Amino acid sequence: PENLTVDYRAELNDQQYAAATANPGALLIVAGAGTGKTRTLVYRLSYLVETGLDPRSIVLLTFTRRAARDMMTRAASLLDGRCQRVRGGTFHSFCMQLLRTHAPALNLSPDFTILDASDAADVLSMLRTRGGYPDRADRFPNKGTLQSMFSDTVNRDRSLSEALNDRYPQFTHLHDDLRELQDTYRAYKAEHHMLDFDDLLRRTHELLSQNDTVRQQVAARCRHVLVDEYQDTNAVQADLVQQFTSVHGNVTAVGDDAQSIYRFRGADFRNIFRFPKQYDNARVLKLEQNYRSTQPILDLANHLIDHANRSYDKTLFSDADTGDLPAIVPAADTAMEARFVGQMVAQLREQGVPLRDQAVLFRSSHNSYDVEIELGKRNIPYVKYGGTKLSEAAHIKDVLAHLRVAENPDDAAAWNRILQLIHGIGPKTAQDLIDWLTDDDHSAFVVDEQGHFAQRYLDTLTQLLNTLRSIRPDEQPLTEQMEAVLTYYRPLFEEAYPDDYPKRESDLEHLAPLAARYDSRQRFLADLTLDPIELTALDQEGATDDEAPLVLSTIHSAKGLEFHSVFLIHALDGTLPSQYALDEPGGLDEELRLLYVAVTRAEENLFISYPMLQTSRYYGDTMASRSRFLENVPESILEPVELVEAPPESTSDALPESPEPEALPTPDDDNTSAPKSDLSEPEDGLPF
Ligand code: ATP
Ligand code: MG
Repeated sequence: PENLTVDYRAELNDQQYAAATANPGALLIVAGAGTGKTRTLVYRLSYLVETGLDPRSIVLLTFTRRAARDMMTRAASLLDGRCQRVRGGTFHSFCMQLLRTHAPALNLSPDFTILDASDAADVLSMLRTRGGYPDRADRFPNKGTLQSMFSDTVNRDRSLSEALNDRYPQFTHLHDDLRELQDTYRAYKAEHHMLDFDDLLRRTHELLSQNDTVRQQVAARCRHVLVDEYQDTNAVQADLVQQFTSVHGNVTAVGDDAQSIYRFRGADFRNIFRFPKQYDNARVLKLEQNYRSTQPILDLANHLIDHANRSYDKTLFSDADTGDLPAIVPAADTAMEARFVGQMVAQLREQGVPLRDQAVLFRSSHNSYDVEIELGKRNIPYVKYGGTKLSEAAHIKDVLAHLRVAENPDDAAAWNRILQLIHGIGPKTAQDLIDWLTDDDHSAFVVDEQGHFAQRYLDTLTQLLNTLRSIRPDEQPLTEQMEAVLTYYRPLFEEAYPDDYPKRESDLEHLAPLAARYDSRQRFLADLTLDPIELTALDQEGATDDEAPLVLSTIHSAKGLEFHSVFLIHALDGTLPSQYALDEPGGLDEELRLLYVAVTRAEENLFISYPMLQTSRYYGDTMASRSRFLENVPESILEPVELVEAPPESTSDALPESPEPEALPTPDDDNTSAPKSDLSEPEDGLPF
């Protein structure tokens, strides 16, 4: 069409342009990292709105809420505010909205509450005890295993016996018991109006496959569905997209099979290959040029992924064909690795690379421990993603549980938490009380042998029930509701967490300002559960005048992002690939893809480091070896850099003793912003 506001042709390359402005229908873009998939999707969104599609009938599905928000903001700045009216979010949050709207068709209370994985495990544990199943983990799966086992059946869309044969062969003989427990679990959730994460997908799928009227209504309100990171959808999610678009087949999905890293949640990159079979006349487009990284970084990425099984071939190339080789940096131990990172980050900052354009990436959250200490010493502000989620912390869950029962008085998982906070109430008593509280005719109320079952807890219980009754969601702002809960909860709280009370107290203080952003309690609870905000990330919010912090992130949480300089730390065998993955069929490939994701986050600089000695609480010091993926990478692709620490020029009593004699403590802890160059590269190469 003529006369468009946005100059799509000028801002996109030919392939991207073709994708962004394609006619409606099913379109899949498969392309490697940094080739502009997300950018193209933003332009597609803008194009659809600009050419007349009602933004409220466009659905944008992404991996986190933040990703959806970013894309909508970018589209809005290209075109106009209409792009903000798109319905964007995660699969889970979108399904949740559909279920609330269509709850009656499913015999569901629209006030249902949501169980996260640990709530689900707790409910399973309770039902397991109640059902009289063996209590010992070697004879019956423990609660966490039960939770992931049942979750597997939903996310991979398969029967319990298939899941058992494939992933839990040691429990196949328990099939009938497990089947029964799964049924009990489903019935219990239904009875108490609780949905776990998997139910959000499963029940939406059920709704749309059983109810044609609803499906057509939904499809009419999803006139075009856009999906980013399609390689990380699972079987149910892929089906859902098809159901959402069943009337018209208008879907644009983008993905990279080489970056599929959520297999443990049932994600299946083969959805990408299935797409052309799922949609009639589906078009598949490829993007080839990488706009993110220098050619030396891409050479490493290409080299790594050449060894993985893939069907869509994509060799990445860049116009930026000069640049430093990625460096592989062995360090004597984790402390030295951390000093290297701290030193380089500070140096790059001095050279003009802002902290927010640098990232330290790692396989697991605890890998960054030494780096965090080092950054603390250097006063370098950082934000950490992929750590403990706010809503996963026990004390936060306690507070939210009170709001949950106010929302859904039948939420047994929330009651369970609340009641066990009362001194003297254990799991068994809690369960009896829950049955009583959530049973309509209260007939299940049991008295103990002494005949004063509830008497002992009466004071606290009365206080609690009064608190809950005093909460009036329609008239009272959420912050006041929260304050009412906190007033009741604080005395119990000190008793429950005597050790780290102050830290937890400060977490609680974060909750009120967060709540202040919401006018709906239901949405607040759902957001906190479905798309949790990381604790440390929360500390950074509002810190606007300060320098934007350095990013520390698990590789998983860095998906889709890009940074001028990337430090991949702990590139060890047993860490990346993880020990656990080695025993899993297909596990190694997934770990390689994870490494690929990490490498392709870097624009200019990439430092891959690892400690040669690992210290563990259990095993003491052990020799560590670098990731097998990095063995045999030619030096023309990955340049080895030797760290030599200069002898101390001054005393440095704040630094821990290093176990390696040649790794001398560094004289850099004077907390100035310009640390001395205490690491040096003997021959050539790195600028430090
Ligand atoms: P990933 O697989 O990591 O999610 P991606 O394919 O989604 O990557 P984008 O994040 O969309 O890639 O793009 C990578 C970078 O390249 C971004 O900074 C983007 O703005 C830039 N870019 C992409 N295409 C172009 C273009 N045609 N002109 C200029 N810059 C571009
Ligand atoms: Mg992307």
